[in-house]
Amino acid sequence: MALVNEHFLKLANNYLFADIAKKVNAYKIAHPKQRVISLGIGDVTQPLCPAVIKAMHKAVDEMAEQASFRGYGPERGYDFLREAIIKNDFLPRGIHLDANEVFVNDGAKSDTGNIQEILRWDNNIGVTDPIYPVYIDSNVMIGRAGIFENGKWSNVTYMPCDESDDFIPQIPDHRVDMIYLCYPNNPTGTVISKEELRKWVNYAIKNESIILYDAAYEAYITDPAIPHSIYEIRGARKVAIEFHSYSKTAGFTGVRCGYTIVPKELKAKTLAGEEVALNPIWDRRQCTKFNGTSYISQRAAEAIYTPEGKEQVKATINYYMENAHFMRAELQKLGLRVYGGENAPYLWVKTPNNTPSWKFFEEMLYGASVVCTPGVGFGPSGEGYIRLTAFGEHEDCKEAMERIAKWLGK
Ligand code: PLP
Repeated sequence: MALVNEHFLKLANNYLFADIAKKVNAYKIAHPKQRVISLGIGDVTQPLCPAVIKAMHKAVDEMAEQASFRGYGPERGYDFLREAIIKNDFLPRGIHLDANEVFVNDGAKSDTGNIQEILRWDNNIGVTDPIYPVYIDSNVMIGRAGIFENGKWSNVTYMPCDESDDFIPQIPDHRVDMIYLCYPNNPTGTVISKEELRKWVNYAIKNESIILYDAAYEAYITDPAIPHSIYEIRGARKVAIEFHSYSKTAGFTGVRCGYTIVPKELKAKTLAGEEVALNPIWDRRQCTKFNGTSYISQRAAEAIYTPEGKEQVKATINYYMENAHFMRAELQKLGLRVYGGENAPYLWVKTPNNTPSWKFFEEMLYGASVVCTPGVGFGPSGEGYIRLTAFGEHEDCKEAMERIAKWLGK
């Protein structure tokens, strides 16, 4: 019999959203008349904007004609989209990218999970804690994370972020090879200042580390002082890969499109000490394992950069941020300590009296029929917190806040 990759078995009982779904289903079966409001999973609710729909219809029509039909596209993505990305997302911030540094993909999950493949399995990793689970899980699958003991992986450096240090991760006092940073942060909804980000870039330059920077929620930043890209920091091109997604920017969770930047200056070493550029290696990996994102999705993404597209996408982001601001204010009125929700669509809420995350999750489900995500599911420092998303409809957010107020007896 063939041998299984046993690293996968370490993850078997560890999928957060499946656990939540199981508990919510059990509640629904016991309370069939009660409408459950989910502020748990991070999916969007608002439809695609008209500019995107128009572009998709046009692309579909092109596919119906022999002369304009498209088969396999370029693995890195079509030039029209890569040029729009460079011109709109980077040039206005003083960042000059070459088209060959932009890799269009089918969303940030694939690349944030796959990128670790091009680095040796025995590099060690560091993550801010709590964090988007894909970073650690994808490293567990290849055996890089070590063994799971007392809620932590043995070969992972956890950089705790909680209210005691204003959610600012401390730079490790030892060398870490691969550092995952996500800003605006999922799950805490907090952001990083240029000064703090500069410390990470300098650390990576000094230690010859690589930063894997997930900017999936960059479109939600409203404070002009907050960086949208790590490449706003001098020297970052030598040490950082950056991930973007149209999922939360423009409601593409079901369309699937995003992109990754791998700068040409970024290098890693062979065991023999020879420096090699990672851009051609990632290109080789993609050409072998990825056949490109659909033409229709890429035309849809291109439409976000038109004047109408920009305006319409912004309107939807504003819609979600109205939810975030409203929920933040309502929860604060109840005396809860709430973080995030100002430059991100997530609220990170301290549970009253340090109630464990899963206990609070169940109490709120049974007391208010509102679903949250237990903070501990994102890492040990998430214990005693819950995450609420602002991606719901206004009416649901309003009703959820009323139910929570009633349940908490306020
Ligand atoms: N990165 C972060 C931090 C996320 O929260 C998510 C989705 O929730 C993703 C990446 C994946 O997004 P995509 O839909 O582009 O795969």
